[in-house]
Amino acid sequence: MIILALDALDFKQVQRFKCKNLMQKEYGQTSISDFNQERTVVLWASFLTGKNMETKVPIKTQWEFKVPPEQTFLKFFKTYKTLDVPAFSYKQQNHAEERRLLKGYFEDKAAIQEYDAVAWRNHEENKKEFFGALGKFDLVMGYFSLADSIGHLSFGITEKMAKVYHELDKLAEKVKDADNFVLLISDHGMKAVGRYGDHSRNGFYSSNHKLGLNIPKITSFYNLIRRLTEK
Ligand SMILES: [Zn+2]
Repeated sequence: MIILALDALDFKQVQRFKCKNLMQKEYGQTSISDFNQERTVVLWASFLTGKNMETKVPIKTQWEFKVPPEQTFLKFFKTYKTLDVPAFSYKQQNHAEERRLLKGYFEDKAAIQEYDAVAWRNHEENKKEFFGALGKFDLVMGYFSLADSIGHLSFGITEKMAKVYHELDKLAEKVKDADNFVLLISDHGMKAVGRYGDHSRNGFYSSNHKLGLNIPKITSFYNLIRRLTEK
């Protein structure tokens, strides 16, 4: 199985930019209506465990929050590799640098270009590790925060977001015809606030198999993945 975890990949933007590889055999919007807020760590922790983790993830130290493997669907796999997954194998340093530059931008200490460069660099690093891991584990779950990172400062700038969505579409193209089951999933969507972007409810899922889902809850994939591993 391959899971592409694409932070802030937005259902409407996937359609708007006509990302045909992101829109696989079945795709659509997810539901996160059981959550009060669209917090990245909460939503990924909930996806991994199949439970609403909103009250379990402290706001102040959320980025350090981790779920043990036995509480996640990872336990259904003999071998797995997770790459940079929030609440599990998140690369603290890489993302701390992004957040430092994001804060720096609003304090006039860092330029958007500097911030974007780090976001793209982290993306390229994950891409390399992700493709290096494919075929070597029963499950490879790769996390890519590009749409979220670039979106926060530039969601209102169409050319920039088109480039991001095109890049993520190319990632999806490379795994599309895999013999494996492929699931693409985002935690939440994004909406424009002037040139900036803020989290929204338009989460997204997509698969190279017909699943027959209708606006599935983000917590519902836990059982789906379990059933698939039982086959
Ligand atoms: Zn997120």
